[in-house]
Parts: sequence; C-alpha cells; structure tokens
Amino acid sequence: ATPIGLLVGTGRGAQLGILIRGPEVLEDTRTVNTVLLDKTGTITEGKLSVSSVTAFGGASKAKLVALAAAAEQGSEHPIATAIVAHSQSLRASGELEDFPTPQTFESSAGGGVKSRVLTPARWHSSAPDGVDVLVGRPLFLMQQGIIFGKDQLESFTQAQQHGETVVAIAVSGKALGYVSLQDTIKSSSAAAIAELKGMGLRPVLLTGDNRAVAEKVAAEVGISPEDVFADVLPEGKVEAVKKLQSQGSVVAMVGDGVNDAPALAKADLGIAMGSGTDVAIEAADITLMGNSVGQVGQSIALSRKTLSTIK
Ligand code: ADP
Ligand code: MG
Repeated sequence: ATPIGLLVGTGRGAQLGILIRGPEVLEDTRTVNTVLLDKTGTITEGKLSVSSVTAFGGASKAKLVALAAAAEQGSEHPIATAIVAHSQSLRASGELEDFPTPQTFESSAGGGVKSRVLTPARWHSSAPDGVDVLVGRPLFLMQQGIIFGKDQLESFTQAQQHGETVVAIAVSGKALGYVSLQDTIKSSSAAAIAELKGMGLRPVLLTGDNRAVAEKVAAEVGISPEDVFADVLPEGKVEAVKKLQSQGSVVAMVGDGVNDAPALAKADLGIAMGSGTDVAIEAADITLMGNSVGQVGQSIALSRKTLSTIK
C-alpha cells in the first residue's frame, strides 16, 4: 500500500503546479544528487529571434531568409519559428515581395532541415526551378558536403563566440550565408540554480547548441564550465545521462523537447516543462506547470519533506 504521506505529498505538489505521475516518484526524487538541465526552453525562454543575417559574397539577405523560411516551414523547432517570423517581418516592411514554396521537407533532429524549394518566377530570367536548401548547424551542413571558405568559417565562428546561435544556409550545394539568433534566459533561472546548489545538488547544462553559447548561458546562471555538455546530438543526451549514472550520480533530467524525451525516460527522475512537447511530458515522471527551473528545487524539497515526515 502507498503510505498516506506520499499521497499527501503528490496532492501538495499539484497545488504548487507540480504534477507527479505517481506517489512512488517522490521516493526516487529524494536520492537525486545531479540535475541535468536542457538549455533551450528550460533555462532559456526557448523563444528565439533573428538578430542578424549575413549573406556571403553579395547575395541578397532578404532572398536568403525567404529560402531558409520556406525550408523551415515544416519544422516546429524554435529556430524554425524565428526564421519564419523574420521572413514575415521582411514581407511586412516591403523588403520581400515574392516567396519561394517548399516542395519537400526532411528534418534531422539536432542538425537542421533539408528542402526542395520552388523559387518565385520573378527571381529568374529563365524558367523557375527547384533548388535544394539546407538550413542548420554548420556541422550538419558540412556533413551534407557543404564546404565553407576560410572567411566564412571565421565570420560565423566569431558570431558563435559572441554567444549567438548560428544557423547556416546553403542553396544548390553552395554556402550562401547564415542567420544569428538570440534567446533570453528566463528571469527565474539563476536564482533557481543557486537554490539547487544550496540543496547540495550539482546542476549540469546539456545542449545541442555550440559550446560558446552554452558556456555564456552557464556563466549567467551560475553553472561551472566543467559542468557544460555542449554540441550534444539528441542521442547524446541519453549518453550523458548514462555517463553520469555510471559515475555513481543519481540523475534528474529536466527538459522540454522531443529531443529530450529519451533522456527524460532514462534518467532516475524525468522532469518536463508544462510548456514542453507532449512526447517530453509523456516520458517524464514530473511535469512543472510553472515552466520554471525553480520548481525543480521545489519538487526535490517536497519529496525530502514528505519522506522525512513518513519515516
Ligand atoms: P537544444 O538542445 O538547445 O534544445 P537541439 O538539439 O534542438 O538543441 O538542436 C541543436 C542544434 O541543431 C541547434 O542549435 C541548431 O543549430 C540545429 N537545429 C536543430 N533543428 C534545427 C532547425 N529546424 N533548423 C535549423 N537548425 C536546427
Ligand atoms: Mg529544448
């Protein structure tokens, strides 16, 4: 039978906006000593915006954005949403009149998207044609055979070192430019991480984004650079959980995305943001309706308190 105290604990959680799958979850929560936190959408708002567009060799920035937006139309990634919104703002300001149309769409989790796009008739002198558009992390484009020139590499590496997320664009096999995107750290994240540390827990940052961005965010919220796992592909998130577990850590994983689901399931305790994808919520033991890392500390404190009352 379930001790009544645990049921009371889950009830108290619900009042706090902490949805606990079952009373036994509180038992597992108590022993957690390491908290793996996804960056985008967990520590940050996950609402990105395009801060600048760089076109290589005099290509049109507006057309570049339009092509990228066409390719991203089928993606639900916050990067895709930001690029589509940026292309709509170019249309609103009259900088862009004709839009390309996507004909095919393929997405590669943690990498980017690939699409065959039909360009508007007014963009050509000859008959309109389909072009292959790739949008994604520079490494993903390189894996698809795109070659960046030295100046191009230097240009986006510098943007990354300034803490921007860089998404490169290639059309018909040629690198044409990149967009830089920025996210905002949730106002509650730094205090929440200080609280976790105060409870004797080790916060670790886990992200598919590049190291410079990851370390910048980590520094701002008080996570040490040794506790940053960056450039992690979706499969790598589960590997990170396993690695920490094999080192003897009892791991809570906090995430929101489809990409986080396997890691949420593998962790000793999976915690999803209420604003997250259904897949993440289904994989998790706890869902935080307040969408704040602050509720992670609250959940662990609740479990410790509930169990000390029972025992
Ligand atoms: P996170 O761990 O920060 O949630 P993801 O695993 O979702 O990141 O993505 C990792 C990286 O893969 C992104 O920073 C981006 O460079 C690239 N990426 C993923 N999806 C897309 C997309 N739809 N368009 C462009 N780039 C993408
Ligand atoms: Mg995420």
